[in-house]
Amino acid sequence: MQERTKMRLLDSTLRKTTFNEVALGYNEEEMLAEANRCLDCKNPLCVSGCPVNVEIPKFIKALKEGNTDLAYDIITRQNSFPGICGRVCPQERQCEGKCIRGLKGESVAIGRLERYASDNHKKDNLKEINKNGKKIAIVGSGPAGLSCAAEALNLGFDVTIFEALHISGGVLSYGIPEFRLPKEIVKKEINDLIKKGAQIKNDFIIGKTITLEELKDSYDGVFIGSGAGLPRFMGIPGENYNGVMSANEFLTRTNLMKGYLDNFDTPLKRAKKVVVVGGGNVAMDAARCAKRLGALVKLVYRRSEKEMPARREEIEHAKEENIEFITLTNPVEIKGINGEVSSVVCEKMVLGEADASGRSSFIGTGEYLEIECDEVIMAIGNYPNPILKDSTSLIEFNNKGLIIVDENQKTTEDFIYSGGDIVTGAATVISAMGAGKKAAQAIYNALFNK
Ligand code: FAD
Ligand code: SF4
Repeated sequence: MQERTKMRLLDSTLRKTTFNEVALGYNEEEMLAEANRCLDCKNPLCVSGCPVNVEIPKFIKALKEGNTDLAYDIITRQNSFPGICGRVCPQERQCEGKCIRGLKGESVAIGRLERYASDNHKKDNLKEINKNGKKIAIVGSGPAGLSCAAEALNLGFDVTIFEALHISGGVLSYGIPEFRLPKEIVKKEINDLIKKGAQIKNDFIIGKTITLEELKDSYDGVFIGSGAGLPRFMGIPGENYNGVMSANEFLTRTNLMKGYLDNFDTPLKRAKKVVVVGGGNVAMDAARCAKRLGALVKLVYRRSEKEMPARREEIEHAKEENIEFITLTNPVEIKGINGEVSSVVCEKMVLGEADASGRSSFIGTGEYLEIECDEVIMAIGNYPNPILKDSTSLIEFNNKGLIIVDENQKTTEDFIYSGGDIVTGAATVISAMGAGKKAAQAIYNALFNK
């Protein structure tokens, strides 16, 4: 009872050749074993650790009693997309990080149980909703926009989502790879929203196709969930060589455009030796995709493994897949031959005092190493895309290009709300979803003087 029920994984040797999902989920027996570890606490700390306060012990109790539909119903009162969150939320830092079971052993595997409820429920709780007569426009179809749409539909709004890309889902579709989050799951959630009445207009860039001002004039309320999708580079010599690219570009070509399939015409170079720079989820995703495309992959990170922001599970899976971790190492120059990248020169680092992020800082040692490669993938963070900012004077942005909002997600302009990465900077799926849901309710309250 101290240890959580293990989840079956796709064999690590098979993983190198397929993009199929790695974590295989619980079967009924495994689910019951894990659900029965929950103590149904009187003061459930797990709930306070969940950013949207899902009633965790209640849904786990329903699972124990064999009522998967009820468990799903309980979760979706707070979180419209448990199949997504059960797979990608950093539960170890949220609900599971607070679980009382964690004090003397391993916490209850709440995320895996959430995933079970979503994957195995049979009945959707489709209720009849009275229209409220107002229409809302949503900019961006990532987790923030989708969650705002789900809540706005529940509140009776007519909902139209404007999405810049030809496929909806934001990072859920173009960033997080198939082997962590199958795209069928994202598609199903989006189709369910469409069935409930949401309209999605793809290839539609607010700030280019039409302005935010025009959008505001045509709708009663607007929510902006445009994310932070502009990649950051290190600013070191040699980043212009062919073969150096951002994780965004690499992951988009791999995931969204399926560059690894022969019958798709997206060019995707099959590199032999890849260096991925970074230590977050994006770096792990890029490294694991490059591995599946047949490369030898080295991941270079300037701090130690302990400081890596990626989920522990992702780090472990990457290691099982033979990705080499070179920690306490920071690139200082990229070298090339005939315009093509040929190696990365790195300085060895040591850890120093904790910095503003709370993690140990890193200090150069003056000792260098050179890593041979034919591709470098930069996964060191993103900025917000400036298209919207440069095209409007309606709302205010801070000096990092992030939209300024109040505690109800309202921007500096009435009836325009915002949330997700465009407000917080790169964060998590569930925090973006929480903000989208909150904004829909706030728009409703503002329009109906609640
Ligand atoms: P996004 O998901 O970025 O969606 C924004 C959408 O808006 C995009 O579809 C974009 O095309 C569209 N858009 C932008 N500008 C416009 C415009 N002007 N007009 C119309 N549409 C526009 N978080 C986790 O919790 N767990 C993970 O495991 C995890 N892994 C990640 C892996 C990768 C590779 C990346 C990049 C991020 C990961 N994250 C993870 C972070 C998480 O995905 C983001 O925090 C989350 O997607 C933010 O949601 P969002 O809706 O604010 O923005
Ligand atoms: Fe169950 Fe852990 Fe929550 Fe207690 S804290 S109710 S044991 S999941």
